[in-house]
Amino acid sequence: MHPITVVGSVALDSIETPFGKVESVIGGSATHFSTSASFFAPINLVGVVGNDFPKEHVKFLKSRNIDTKGLEIADGLTFSWKGYYDYDLNTAHTLETNLNVFETFDPKLPDSYKSAEFIFLANIDPELQLKVLEQTTQPKLVVMDTMNFWIESKKQHLIRTLQEVDIAMMNDAEARELSETHNLLDAARRILGWGPTTVIIKKGEHGVLMFTDKTHFAAPAFPLEDIKDPTGAGDSFAGGFIGYLAKTNDVTEANMRKAVIYASVMASFSVEDFSLNRFKRLTQKEIDGRYAHFEEMTIF
Ligand code: AMP
Repeated sequence: MHPITVVGSVALDSIETPFGKVESVIGGSATHFSTSASFFAPINLVGVVGNDFPKEHVKFLKSRNIDTKGLEIADGLTFSWKGYYDYDLNTAHTLETNLNVFETFDPKLPDSYKSAEFIFLANIDPELQLKVLEQTTQPKLVVMDTMNFWIESKKQHLIRTLQEVDIAMMNDAEARELSETHNLLDAARRILGWGPTTVIIKKGEHGVLMFTDKTHFAAPAFPLEDIKDPTGAGDSFAGGFIGYLAKTNDVTEANMRKAVIYASVMASFSVEDFSLNRFKRLTQKEIDGRYAHFEEMTIF
């Protein structure tokens, strides 16, 4: 078993999509990631919540093979995010970001987390991402995600963190904004130039591209009939990706291509309901079934 150590936001989200509305539900980049990845590998969660964070959410995470020793409960309010989507479900419109307890968070990794070989720096302040990475002792694969909020407020710190990671993962709009170019091939090259050996660019319903300096892989998104809430799709994608690599303990490019398909499978399930609701009733059989469906879809 190869555990994954993740740092990122653990949040209370309020979300409106054309298909419904929820208030103060469990969310956050580390939460979506951990729940998705827990179908493949054990998870060490690093983050902070306030004392307003409902105990049942922590109980849920624990029930999913997610170690919460690294989830600090601080005096104050939990990070919260409020956003909405129009019919273009690829674009999240942020209405409010309240960092709250994340403003003063100084992550200290429990000893049992330090030796994990698989590390995910989920979307959060890039300075916190680096602080966590610096405490790990033998990382074999380090993946990071980010978003416009951090590109706009902490670009230099973000580039500093990028220098230390193996894989940078972000959506197309974020890749363009970070690299200040429209062309995605050019964006990937610029990001590779900062240090990562692989760049994965997610294009929502249009699929995903994976670049190294020598190779280029493209996969479609699973065509879905029933999408309710795209929040957490990116983190669920990362969960399937790193989860599969950790489960197989194989980080070759050939295996990463399979991991991209598991990633797309997990992202496709996550958007079928609000918050973590789809994952709460997801089975291994459904995951395997959709993976097989993907294989059929891409043979020619
Ligand atoms: P995604 O997978 O990209 O849809 O990420 C969704 C999650 O990101 C939501 O559950 C939010 O709580 C979280 N989030 C939103 N803004 C930020 C931010 N600035 N930093 C960290 N997490 C965020």
